Amino acid sequence: MGIRVTAVDCGPLTLDRGVLMTGSSGLITVPTAAYIIEHPKHGVILFDTGVNYRVADEEEAEVYWGPGVRAAFGCGLTRDMAIDRQLDKLGYKLTDVKHVILSHMHLDHAGGMTHFPHAKFYVQKVELRYAWWPDPFSTAVYCLNDYKDTRGYHFIQLEGDADIFDDGSIRLITTPGHSPGHQSAIVRLEHRGPVFLGADSAHLQAAYQSLACMPFDWSIERVTDSYHRMRMLEAAGVELVFSHDPDDFARFPHDGEWAD
Ligand SMILES: [Zn+2]
Repeated sequence: MGIRVTAVDCGPLTLDRGVLMTGSSGLITVPTAAYIIEHPKHGVILFDTGVNYRVADEEEAEVYWGPGVRAAFGCGLTRDMAIDRQLDKLGYKLTDVKHVILSHMHLDHAGGMTHFPHAKFYVQKVELRYAWWPDPFSTAVYCLNDYKDTRGYHFIQLEGDADIFDDGSIRLITTPGHSPGHQSAIVRLEHRGPVFLGADSAHLQAAYQSLACMPFDWSIERVTDSYHRMRMLEAAGVELVFSHDPDDFARFPHDGEWAD
């Protein structure tokens, strides 16, 4: 048996398409994917952790995320959608998760970190530092509450690409631009081939295809450089998927009906 991946929606967002892709418009609802990866040798690995469970409650969200933020992102998280409940629904205990990969530390990806104090976290060093002290124009998308209690956690701080198990099964690829230390993962699935979990390296396939950025991108130039790196991977036969693209999300099993 090879590696199996399921995608769960840990924070649907309803917002204007222009927030996801500069120059487009119209209301759209998108998922926030977290990927649960079952590895035959290394157990359960998470790629991103979604929105924090406290944001499911409108009043608590005002405290946790700050006034008006939940409404601004049109976040429709319910308590059962948070990563702890999603794992439970699939029959996993929180302690089964031994490894957590963070694509980046924005509030829709790092929200579930504190469920996994026992796990190893793989994050780019520059992202970890930036999350603690973002530039003023980025503060709306980082929530200190997600990681203020994680100082003692086991972080593997990466500087560049990494083959995390040294066997080619999960490779981390730096894709900076949306945030300073954004990274993606290439997961090698037995029957599907290599799949690039691109997180927010693009927000929609249409954005990637047209090399369009989005208003919260940290550096448009670095986003564009990463797009070109992704084009190279795509030309080599790697399937690209993005965390907020509804069609990409639909291409994964969601309910424990594993496919590899
Ligand atoms: Zn996101």
